[in-house]
Amino acid sequence: MSQSFDVAVIGLGAMGSAALAELAERGLKVIGFERHYPAHPLGSSHGDSRMIRLAYFEDPSYVPILQRAYAKWRELEQRSEQEVLSVTGVLQIGLPDSDLLRGVLASCALHGLSHEVLDASSTMARFPAFSLDPDEMAVLDPEGGFVRPEIAVSLQVKRAAAAGAVVHFGETITHIDPDHGDVTVVSNHGRCFAKKVIVATGAWINQLVPQLQGKAKPIRQVVAWYHPKQALDAQQGRMPGFIRDEGPGGAFFGFPAIGSDGVKIGRHLHFNQPLDPDEPNAPVDDEDFALLDQFAHHRLPTVASFRHKAITCRYTMMPNENFLIDFLPGTDDIIICSACSGHGFKFASVIGEILADLAQKSTTDLPIGLFAFDRHFPS
Ligand SMILES: Cc1cc2nc3c(=O)[nH]c(=O)nc-3n(C[C@H](O)[C@H](O)[C@H](O)COP(=O)(O)OP(=O)(O)OC[C@H]3O[C@@H](n4cnc5c(N)ncnc54)[C@H](O)[C@@H]3O)c2cc1C
Repeated sequence: MSQSFDVAVIGLGAMGSAALAELAERGLKVIGFERHYPAHPLGSSHGDSRMIRLAYFEDPSYVPILQRAYAKWRELEQRSEQEVLSVTGVLQIGLPDSDLLRGVLASCALHGLSHEVLDASSTMARFPAFSLDPDEMAVLDPEGGFVRPEIAVSLQVKRAAAAGAVVHFGETITHIDPDHGDVTVVSNHGRCFAKKVIVATGAWINQLVPQLQGKAKPIRQVVAWYHPKQALDAQQGRMPGFIRDEGPGGAFFGFPAIGSDGVKIGRHLHFNQPLDPDEPNAPVDDEDFALLDQFAHHRLPTVASFRHKAITCRYTMMPNENFLIDFLPGTDDIIICSACSGHGFKFASVIGEILADLAQKSTTDLPIGLFAFDRHFPS
């Protein structure tokens, strides 16, 4: 294989598959490479659910691109006639002066977002799944909900292939060489050439972008599912998704029962354990279970009652937890995308559009200043 393409996309997880679909539908000649298979469980985009929310506590400047992400998910649903995004509301719980609640309320105020502020007792009366301390409060984001990662990635890959993208699974890119006109993309099976290359390789990003060694840090994450004692209280409609600020104990997140697996919970960053992306994740152990069970029994006593399943996953952390989406410094043909830090999936639909804009026009109208290389690493 030594064909030439307009764009080669490396890594077909959440971000790469969205970019490939967008580019193919714009009529560009594109190829996508994935070392595993669509929606596989060895990267960052598996586990049934990813939270989506509009009142973004992390930074209000995410809100306009989130609004676009919602629209793009709805477009994917309409075209595929499959449910990808379910709105359940998201409850953000903490002390009134926590970063979480102050951030949510700042985003709501700046962008005029609908929300409800609830004290501890009215939260528990309305949503019996949750146990709050008397001095805590909650803010309900009615637009919040979850996206189904495996379905979303599979649909994006199908869209790309239907629009004419060449898609190679089971093929690992080992090297990209921008030095001779078009970029040379070398894999374990051969090589091709592309005018632009998008690197969206998740936890493996440092391997093709050595400039990110020591900066983009893959870490191990664990989530667990619990069957409820009170099944009704765990149902969508009765139980929103949630993020809960536990102060020095970190931030936990979770989802109502989806299908028969029950309530899923995890702690953002978990134990912050670095990993080698080429090695299998360390299996879930007693320390992982103890952390999640303790939270479940204390904070979700009637709905997270009987643990029955747990899996590992991978976060790729940037130092400031914002996304990195930019041209590799010194190049105008290699675009790098590390959009994780534990909160990227909800944006995949719009990040596909951003990456396609950068590859096609070298710029985008969407506001991505926060994601620039030099915002992360000023020279
Ligand atoms: C447990 C957990 C919970 C999360 N919760 C949320 C949430 O609630 N809401 C939210 O918005 N986000 C959440 N996230 C974050 C979100 O899932 C990630 O931001 C997102 O999945 C990252 O997508 P990606 O495309 O960058 O990586 P991936 O989906 O992992 O894709 C990268 C792909 O590149 C492939 N690849 C790597 N190297 C090569 C190579 N050399 N050649 C070819 N292919 C290669 C890999 O096989 C992989 O498929 C969570 C993440 C985890 C792990």
